[in-house]
Amino acid sequence: MQLRHLADKAASAGLEEKAPSPVSNGGAPAPFGPDPAIVLPSIGAVLYDWDIATDRLLWGDNLAETLGAVARGELSTGRAYGERLGAESAASRYEAVMNSTATDEGEGAPFRAVYSLAPARETGGGPLIWVEDCGRWFAGRDGRPHRVHGLVRVITERKELEGEMKRRAQIDALTGTVTRVQLADHAQRLLGQPEKARKPFAVLLVAIENLFALNRTYGYDAGDEIIVRLAARLRANLRVNDLVSRYAGNKFAVLLDNCEAEQAKATGMRLIEVISQAPFETQVGAIPATARMGAVVAPRDGRTPEILFQHAEEALDAARQRNGARFVAYASSLDRDIGRLHALHVADSVVSALNERRVELAFQPIVSAKTGAIAFYEALLRVRLADGSIVCPGDILPVAEKSGLVRLLDQRVLELALARLAEEPDLRVSVNASIATLNDPEWPAWLASATNVYPGVAKRLTIEMTESTMIEDFDTTRRLIAACKSLGIKLAMDDFGAGHTSFRNLRQLDFDLVKIDGAFVRNISKSADDRFFVRTLTDLARHLGLEIVAEWVEDEATAALLREWGVDYFQGSYFGVAETAPAAFAPPQAAAASA
Ligand code: C2E
Ligand code: CA
Ligand code: CA
Repeated sequence: MQLRHLADKAASAGLEEKAPSPVSNGGAPAPFGPDPAIVLPSIGAVLYDWDIATDRLLWGDNLAETLGAVARGELSTGRAYGERLGAESAASRYEAVMNSTATDEGEGAPFRAVYSLAPARETGGGPLIWVEDCGRWFAGRDGRPHRVHGLVRVITERKELEGEMKRRAQIDALTGTVTRVQLADHAQRLLGQPEKARKPFAVLLVAIENLFALNRTYGYDAGDEIIVRLAARLRANLRVNDLVSRYAGNKFAVLLDNCEAEQAKATGMRLIEVISQAPFETQVGAIPATARMGAVVAPRDGRTPEILFQHAEEALDAARQRNGARFVAYASSLDRDIGRLHALHVADSVVSALNERRVELAFQPIVSAKTGAIAFYEALLRVRLADGSIVCPGDILPVAEKSGLVRLLDQRVLELALARLAEEPDLRVSVNASIATLNDPEWPAWLASATNVYPGVAKRLTIEMTESTMIEDFDTTRRLIAACKSLGIKLAMDDFGAGHTSFRNLRQLDFDLVKIDGAFVRNISKSADDRFFVRTLTDLARHLGLEIVAEWVEDEATAALLREWGVDYFQGSYFGVAETAPAAFAPPQAAAASA
């Protein structure tokens, strides 16, 4: 009664619902219920008992009936069984049991694995079968699995059905191309690659023109044939790594791998040509068709598949305008050209301003909160255009940062500031440094030689860096600050409050002063939230022993609040705007930032 023994064990292993077993009666024959020897083969399942220490694997009598060709050959040890494991299997029985995180509290611990099995080699091979293997393992004295009782059930059909359903969800039944869901998945994978490995790719949305009319004129079958042949024609004209997808009824999407805008346009135009070049063969004769196309390039035109596709649709809509071009790239080429021209123009102006010495400084006073006297000035970048007009940083910096010109601008500003400091022995000035400048490994050495030209001025210079610049790389920031300090230069944290500096970071960095971001300061007389926030920032800086500048102080009410909270200096239109040619610098009275 080996089988009955196994069936009882399986029953106690919680398999009753799968393998109806006789009621266990201390090993006595079951008084009622179906005979498992009849039931088990009919549900395609076989019981087993595996002794891990000896590796002996004992099977129910219906083994051959259940596993067919797989059961032929050697299966009487766990090792022999394991050798039959199919390559696609996710986890074997051995792994499911041995890696189980459950514990056996005396009743066995459940496990489950799904894997495939190959027929014995000596049978000459044959198809794999898929099985579900579940049961319980029982611990030995050490708590580790010692014995396993379980049931192997054949699920090949279910597995095939699942596979088919999966395949169907991925493949358009008519054309055999992937569906939009698959396309989106693929796009997502490409977008999700690490920055270094990521290549731009394009999505072309292809719409068959007048498919509705074609269907009406030639019938839906002919319409379907056009769709099928068009898909094949697209496929035949693309590279292996490009993907064709049935995007919607009359639309295809083509994903061009590793492709820039120019190339996308060339390919799109070629495909439009290829489609209209020759009619499509159908049962009712050759039918000509034409297509229109909208294109996007990722990640430029969208960083998620949804946005990309939405922009591609917008471009396609434009292409479908009656008199529009057949191919339209998202963000009409006009806009793009204007953007590019603008950037070129700005970069050009900056370069010539640098060459022609038209980079200038505007000085804005920073006054003592107690006395109102000017303590120092912030030197702000100004570019004088060839026609004499003055441009502020907001119009230049975005382009200058992208084109790398910002480092040259920062250098020029520093040179001008140092020269000015040398001319005016009582003047104190602070200047801004951009991320690019701070990250430039050559900069500390350059700074050392630049300050060397004018002995004694460095101690009247402060360099402002923003919070977001410094937290990018804490150690580099610390080294940089140390290098500046060794030259006698002071350090200010600019735009304090706009970033996320932690209290700990702030304490570890050797700043001399903080400048509270004007965007918060300007509203404190109106907004309780801003009031609370600025107050908190003030307390924090005070606690760390830093001097405090409040930016954008535009009225007396604001100044009064800040004074009460212990802010040391004010900067803002209420005390003076930035001027390019101050007639004379007021002699500084307070020993600002000179601690
Ligand atoms: P920032 O460092 O926060 O400089 C203060 C800005 O606030 C200046 O604008 C100043 O004119 C403006 N401002 C001063 N008082 C008030 C006020 O009461 N109300 C308002 N609404 N604004 C006030 P500016 O000169 O246009 O500079 C803008 C930004 O450009 C600066 O912000 C700084 O981040 C950057 N920048 C300026 N010069 C340089 C430079 O030489 N190098 C680099 N890398 N960046 C610079
Ligand atoms: Ca500043
Ligand atoms: Ca600022």
